[in-house]
Amino acid sequence: MTLTDRFGRPITYLRISVTDRCNLRCVYCLPEKGIQWQEREKQLSAEEITRITEIAAQLGIKRIRLTGGEPLVYPHIIEIVERIASQPGIEEVSLTTNAMLLEKLARPLAEAGLKRVNISLDTLNADKFKRITRGGDIDRLWRGIVAAEKAGLAPLKLNTVVVNGLNADELPALARLTIENPWHMRFIELMPVGNAQDWGADFPSLPARYISVQDMQARLSTFDPSTGSGLRLEPVPPPIGNGPARTFRIPGALGTIGFISPLGEHFCQQCNRLRLTADGHLRPCLLLDSEVNLRGALYTGKALLPLFQKAVDAKPEGHELFLQHYPESRRMAQIGG
Ligand code: SAM
Repeated sequence: MTLTDRFGRPITYLRISVTDRCNLRCVYCLPEKGIQWQEREKQLSAEEITRITEIAAQLGIKRIRLTGGEPLVYPHIIEIVERIASQPGIEEVSLTTNAMLLEKLARPLAEAGLKRVNISLDTLNADKFKRITRGGDIDRLWRGIVAAEKAGLAPLKLNTVVVNGLNADELPALARLTIENPWHMRFIELMPVGNAQDWGADFPSLPARYISVQDMQARLSTFDPSTGSGLRLEPVPPPIGNGPARTFRIPGALGTIGFISPLGEHFCQQCNRLRLTADGHLRPCLLLDSEVNLRGALYTGKALLPLFQKAVDAKPEGHELFLQHYPESRRMAQIGG
């Protein structure tokens, strides 16, 4: 069986925010202080998550990504990976992480059946990393990358949210990481979700922050005095599946460079995903607030299958950011970025 939405898109991918808690406070995602985490009793248990994924697999979901918050702070993360990876129909379990706990967990995660990790890397500068993440240690991230590669969690994808006045000047250096490493860098436009306002005095102000993927590409091809040239990028097919990134390669490089443009050239026509929030709501679209509550059904024993269908039927043709319809009910960490 395959779930298909009103616009003929097959839905085969589920992203699960296993917790809204995080061990970092990236400026664009969370406020520095005063965060109200969801109460633990309101969040799904490991059993509930795996009951939901079992139904999802029966409905044709083949790939599952665990995210958050920070999925590696979730106490039962290994158990969840193990349970989901062994469910019939599930072809791949992957995870998005800030890598602060990856050095220790990469091996057990791989042994539990995890296939790949995506790692957030917004800068190569240790001090700036600390500032952007409000306390993160970039050396831990590099050790996490080494451990992930050793454990076979490959190919690695590295996600950079590109912000004018903060890290856009690092685009060429980040892109050059792909020359000698088989990594897939992905440059992502800043989205108006999460912590849009209070970044603090030493960050660029709101109107100046956004940079489109077109401007990112222009920056990469511009003459760079440190190397004596601009970067030439040749288009290539996406490395895995049919994801939202437009993908390129520096000729001869081992890795690729992808550009993800949720705002400028949105990729909703190919959207194949549903999201599950940490407190058990299916969300048809990251960028719209409608949701279907599965938690209640788990309590009452009501069938989950029709609720999945309801969420799929509620998938919009595309997000409505261009109409200034912004999601307001939840933070990114609760939905799962
Ligand atoms: N803690 C994990 C991490 O850091 O990768 C997983 C959760 S985090 C919410 C998932 C992704 O969402 C990260 O790559 C992060 O950069 C991205 N993200 C968060 N807020 C964003 C925003 N306002 N615009 C674009 N991407 C955002």
